[in-house]
Amino acid sequence: MTADEVGTATHEIPPVVAVVGRPNVGKSTLVNRILGRREAVVQDVPGVTRDRVSYDALWNGRQFVVVDTGGWASDATGMAAQIAGQAEIAIELADAVVFVVDATVGVMDEDEAVVRVLRRSQKPVVLAANKVDDPRTEAEAAKMWNLGLGEPYAVSALHGRGSGDLLDAILESLPTAPKETDEEVGGPRRVAIVGKPNVGKSSLLNTLAGRQRVVVDNAAGTTVDPVDELVEVNGTVYRFIDTAGIRRRVKEATGHEYYASLRTHGAIERAEVCVVVIDASEPVTEQDLRILTSVEEAGRALLIAFNKWDLTDEERRRYLTREIERDLVQFAWSSRVNISAGTGRHVDRLQPAIDEALGNWEKRISTGKLNAFLGRIVAAHPHPVRGGKQPRILFGTQAQAGPPTFILFTSGQIEAGYLRFVERRLREEFDFTGTPVHLQVRARE
Ligand code: GDP
Ligand code: GDP
Repeated sequence: MTADEVGTATHEIPPVVAVVGRPNVGKSTLVNRILGRREAVVQDVPGVTRDRVSYDALWNGRQFVVVDTGGWASDATGMAAQIAGQAEIAIELADAVVFVVDATVGVMDEDEAVVRVLRRSQKPVVLAANKVDDPRTEAEAAKMWNLGLGEPYAVSALHGRGSGDLLDAILESLPTAPKETDEEVGGPRRVAIVGKPNVGKSSLLNTLAGRQRVVVDNAAGTTVDPVDELVEVNGTVYRFIDTAGIRRRVKEATGHEYYASLRTHGAIERAEVCVVVIDASEPVTEQDLRILTSVEEAGRALLIAFNKWDLTDEERRRYLTREIERDLVQFAWSSRVNISAGTGRHVDRLQPAIDEALGNWEKRISTGKLNAFLGRIVAAHPHPVRGGKQPRILFGTQAQAGPPTFILFTSGQIEAGYLRFVERRLREEFDFTGTPVHLQVRARE
């Protein structure tokens, strides 16, 4: 890679494909097929939230995100409206939709309900007539033409039959240009406010947006997702991602949590920086940690806002410090602010912290500086000798920004502990507060 290529790398947001349909048509099986995984589908306990709902997929060199809506189960039977309501949220978040029907049982009421939602959404739809395990069932798939959704793709998610054609059709249905086009580079930064329910996300959004001018984007040709809001904070305009999801309470009884988590994942994927809101007055929970982990895994800049500071007393604050040291040590690199969204206290500290995190997220270290630094730490702290050999970092280069990703070329295998040490020193040297840092190793034996 030349220096030039490195310099022009952008953070393209991969398009999102939602797989929808009524229960048991084979959505999860199809998602596994798309991902090329062979493992059996994990059967979820009804009503239990699945951790991961979106996955990175690759077909013919094109990257996209697959959203699996197979994780919720309807406990009541025949709840066509409920199924449609839930599919609606997934569809709203997606760039294209794969609508799965079971060719062996034909079209049912619940399918029809989803079809109506699909028509209204005007999103590109690829119709998958599933469970066509053999040529005999193909005639059943052909009957699906009358759904009015175009060609039914006969597939067997279970055995893989027809899945290549389906994937080709999915790619064709996706918008050709990446979401972030050239015009959008230098446009408003994308911020997601995420966190578990009741931590104060909508209060924070209101405080930020309410007292500032809400900017209406009417520049011709720009695509503003109506779920987003452009908000001016201290003279800078930010795009707050999926504010519709924050403002609008999802009321569906079944799958509520599941869809909240789906929205959270969607928002994280689309954002450049995530503000994870945590209720400082309550103990930090698993759910908080899961959201933080999602942000880290997605490689987004991270700002933790400890909210409801007005409700904390001396004792709680001492305990919180301990929780941060014990449970949040993995996120010690994040930016942090203590705020009260309700009263507005220190909400003004958010914007500088967001900008700092974004700046570090996009930071580029020249190969010269990086190698001077690597040379120094290798000389001062060589890797321990293993089996008579001395593994060594030979040189490194920053392959990407957003988040900073470094490739280290080494002789011998570098141990995880040493890599952590290198990361720590890298952070001290160049300041990567608020951003994950990825280290990849290319070892030469
Ligand atoms: P979901 O509820 O829509 O996510 O459906 P699942 O993926 O959990 O599949 C429901 C059931 O249908 C499971 O028992 C699958 O093994 C089965 N199934 C999925 N795809 C196929 C297929 O192509 N052929 C056959 N025969 N069974 C399938
Ligand atoms: P969301 O579900 O994360 O969007 O949370 P909300 O913004 O709806 O807030 C949940 C509850 O916490 C509401 O009753 C808010 O009034 C309250 N709340 C939010 N921020 C604060 C705060 O800074 N201090 C206090 N005391 N209450 C707050």
